[in-house]
Amino acid sequence: MAWYERNKQNITTTNNEKREIPEGIWHQCESCRTVTLVKDFIQDKYTCHSCGHHERIGSKEYFELLFDNKEYTPLITNLKSRDFLNFVDTKPYIERLENTRKKTGLDEATAVAHGKIEGMDLVISAMDFDFIGGSMGSVMGEKMAKAIDYAIQHRCAFMIISQSGGARMMESSLSLMQMAKVSAKLTQLAAAKLPYFSLLTNPTTGGVSASFAMLGDINMAEPKALVGFAGARVIKETIRVKELPENFQSAESNLENGFVDMIVDRKKLRCQLAELLRYWQHL
Ligand SMILES: [Zn+2]
Repeated sequence: MAWYERNKQNITTTNNEKREIPEGIWHQCESCRTVTLVKDFIQDKYTCHSCGHHERIGSKEYFELLFDNKEYTPLITNLKSRDFLNFVDTKPYIERLENTRKKTGLDEATAVAHGKIEGMDLVISAMDFDFIGGSMGSVMGEKMAKAIDYAIQHRCAFMIISQSGGARMMESSLSLMQMAKVSAKLTQLAAAKLPYFSLLTNPTTGGVSASFAMLGDINMAEPKALVGFAGARVIKETIRVKELPENFQSAESNLENGFVDMIVDRKKLRCQLAELLRYWQHL
């Protein structure tokens, strides 16, 4: 009888390759592990629709997210870091620079662009954490100084988007000098009656937070961004406390303590900047 004997062959699959979801379709939130479609994640400006986590993005993404029609002109693209000190840690600095350039496709830890937000000019210098921790070397300082000169010359508002571990130790005091250099340039921008907006993203620490990142006419921060100077462990050891407050060095605690003027959700950043630019134009 047919149901005692197997008349048909077992089901076999001719294609033995495992079916995998192609990469680049799904995105998993680093914070709450919610899975979303990459295109929805990008539409939400690289933030999680479930928990609001702001994933770190680079200069190119910020430029495309903020400027009208994703159109902008890259500025000051001809500067490259040099190894002034023949610095070697786990590998020679020159080798580290080369490897990072190849890996990231970036020239340096900051990029500058001129574009428009709702038709109003803005020059942005945005950092890339992927390039040696967004560290502030001599090229970052020089690019920012030249970007400020350009903003003054063309009567544009200026913005720095910070994400940095601080000064680049491989350039020693040459990197520390950039704190004073950029701060001095910002004074010239202020004298020209042009506004400077600073956006602190995760993380903004060390020499960057101790200088130009905190000098904005308006200091903005992304939600839950780490904003501080020294690391929590160093502070604990220095002031000899067992526990630091729960939201220590968060954007929110910086707002509470007056270091930050506003926390801006990335989805509303473009609108917020347009509002500030309009306000400035009517002053
Ligand atoms: Zn999430």
